Amino acid sequence: MITDERKKFLEKQGYRIVGNHSAIKTCHYCSTAMKGNDVCYKNTFYNIASWRCIQATVTLDLCNLRCRWCWRDINYGTTNGTMFTDKPQDIVEGLISEHKNVLMGFYGNKNIIKERLQETMEPKHIALSLTGDACLYSKLPELVDEIHRNNMTSFVVTNGTITPMVKKLINHQPTQLYITLPAPNKETYLKMCNPISSNYGWENILESLYLLKSFKRTAIRLTLVKNMNMFNPEEYALHLADKEFNFLELKSAMPIGDAKYRMEYSEMPTHEEIKKFAEKICSINQWKIIDEKPESKVVLVMKEDREDRFLKFDIN
Ligand code: SF4
Repeated sequence: MITDERKKFLEKQGYRIVGNHSAIKTCHYCSTAMKGNDVCYKNTFYNIASWRCIQATVTLDLCNLRCRWCWRDINYGTTNGTMFTDKPQDIVEGLISEHKNVLMGFYGNKNIIKERLQETMEPKHIALSLTGDACLYSKLPELVDEIHRNNMTSFVVTNGTITPMVKKLINHQPTQLYITLPAPNKETYLKMCNPISSNYGWENILESLYLLKSFKRTAIRLTLVKNMNMFNPEEYALHLADKEFNFLELKSAMPIGDAKYRMEYSEMPTHEEIKKFAEKICSINQWKIIDEKPESKVVLVMKEDREDRFLKFDIN
């Protein structure tokens, strides 16, 4: 349960709290897109309209890993999950309502494209990517169903260590499931992600990555930091080679939020460095760089490009 003091602190940082363990934070690209300026890389790669997307979490402050590059305060962990009591329907209603409340503030702003502002009042996407690991929420499958019942798409990002929940999602598939591969090997994983218990081992991540073949639309994410996990591309390539997935994203970690206390600015890879690392993996696995967004220091790798990587605004 979030204390009042913590709640105030998070609200000052731009979070809007929903119920007992969920929140939204309006993404920078939501406001720039409303002005007709830059969009998020998910808009560029997959046609997720940035101004209609809610960046959210259902596990605020709570995660079972303590990654060095995480932007949350990793001193907040989690216990046994019994604090996750909120109902999926209440969460989805609350996320939409808070999103609208925040964006109402743009009415009267002359720099905004009016039609886009109207569209923000009918959001079409929820990305559970803000902070914490969504798989800790025991009703995640029902939540995904609830998002779709609201005629919205769902992007779920997980660290893959809670394999039983990944298995449950096979029957309640998010529009796009992301699993992060945080390191080229077990030793680096343990050192850099420091799981809160031995139940969240490297082997769980590998098992979850194998499960991706049972999902319709999937992405593997590499969040890279120089000196921490951005080495041994051959090992990454080996782990990726026998997994079945649609998209591979390589992205630079940013020293923002609490990450700035754990990583130096100089450890943030440049876009060119991310691209070179992607090229090494591609040269081993015969994949291709399909798209890129230098402003976000991210590249998209696929075996072959497909027209359906661009989502249409209907569900499933
Ligand atoms: S898995 Fe994600 S939320 Fe959890 S500590 Fe790592 S970066 Fe942060």
